[in-house]
Amino acid sequence: MPKQDPMDRTSGFLKKNLETMPPKKRLEYLNQKLRGIIQYAYKNSSAFKNKLDSVGLKPRDIQKVKDLEKIPITKKADLVALQKKNPPFGGFEGIPISEMRRIYASPGPIYEPGEMEYVELGWAQGMYAGGFRPGDIVINTFSYHMVPFALHMVDNSLYRIGCVVIPTGVGNTEQQVNVLKTFRATGFCGTPSFLLTITEKAEEMGLDLKKDLNLKVGFVAAEMLPESLRSKLEEKLGMTIRQTYGTADIGCLGYECLMKNGMHVPDDKIVEIVDPETGKQLEPGKTGEIVATTFNKIYPFIRFGTGDLSVLTETPCPCGRTSPRLIKILGRVDQVTKVRGLFVHPGQADEVASRHPQIARYQVVVMRKEEKDEMIFRVELKEEIAEPEKLKVEIEKSIRDVMKLRSEVEFIPKGTTPEGIKKIDDQRTWE
Ligand SMILES: [Zn+2]
Repeated sequence: MPKQDPMDRTSGFLKKNLETMPPKKRLEYLNQKLRGIIQYAYKNSSAFKNKLDSVGLKPRDIQKVKDLEKIPITKKADLVALQKKNPPFGGFEGIPISEMRRIYASPGPIYEPGEMEYVELGWAQGMYAGGFRPGDIVINTFSYHMVPFALHMVDNSLYRIGCVVIPTGVGNTEQQVNVLKTFRATGFCGTPSFLLTITEKAEEMGLDLKKDLNLKVGFVAAEMLPESLRSKLEEKLGMTIRQTYGTADIGCLGYECLMKNGMHVPDDKIVEIVDPETGKQLEPGKTGEIVATTFNKIYPFIRFGTGDLSVLTETPCPCGRTSPRLIKILGRVDQVTKVRGLFVHPGQADEVASRHPQIARYQVVVMRKEEKDEMIFRVELKEEIAEPEKLKVEIEKSIRDVMKLRSEVEFIPKGTTPEGIKKIDDQRTWE
């Protein structure tokens, strides 16, 4: 008989009162937290004070989540420029440097302050929701050098749950396997591709992945997790793998629960989905840029533009958590094109193509015809089919469903779409 895992990994919450709050109460809670951080940041972060002053706002003008729309979004590029102008933190820090515990650096370069007592909740909520429990022995294979993720965020979050951390860091695959085996480690933190590398190494070393290793839970981030890779790894290793999403500047912005139902927004952040051109909030179900606000007093970011695109849903999740969820990350804002007033992005085009297995390759072309936007979905088929007109109508319907736009579908000869072509080719010129 297979050994039973003595821990209950499926029920419970890390912070039940926060995670199961009724939506109306959650909004009140977030509004109250928002007022607090706005007051604090205005007093303690010169960058934030300058931002509010620049648009003639006072902290009292920001009372609720909807009021955030009044504040200009800070993009990553703005942050790099402001840190260069006003080193080291660009005035975004909320405490003096002498009160920090550590200082981190991310590519950009961007410098991040680290507090004495780690306060962020999101990553730990994600680990718990994904099945991590006190007593788990976990290898943390993210990089511990310079960047804040492994040491500051992941290590501290594992500690908060009560897990034992082995800070293995990046690389040394054979040693990782030996550590997993020696300690019968139950948890993995790292990228999905590195878990695959470790798995392949263990097989190469002649180990039985389920008997010699004892992995039960995986917390992956920093890379896309294709479902095919997830199920392959879960099956081979007999473990549960859940993904999270966030940034080094602001922390966790979404985590999957066991329902695999999108990514819950943690309770210590406000996530808005906004129109990338106007910065106005969009309703659930609409695609836009993820803009985040944290209540972290050490590094109080208000309206940080991630440049990532997603959709929020507020439909209830069977896990019992009531927070809204990011359905998935759909791509980058800079890949977005606006057609007849609607945003079109490569993720949507992929979604259309994935509904029709007959499609080998495709490209969306946007042009102007008689002062109007025109979209053409050019498709190469894997092989000739009996009723091309019927398929054309079906693809046109998928385009309407996914992109909310009408588009012509054009079949083009096989082999005419070059490798690495832009998925959306905007040929419009504006004079
Ligand atoms: Zn859930």
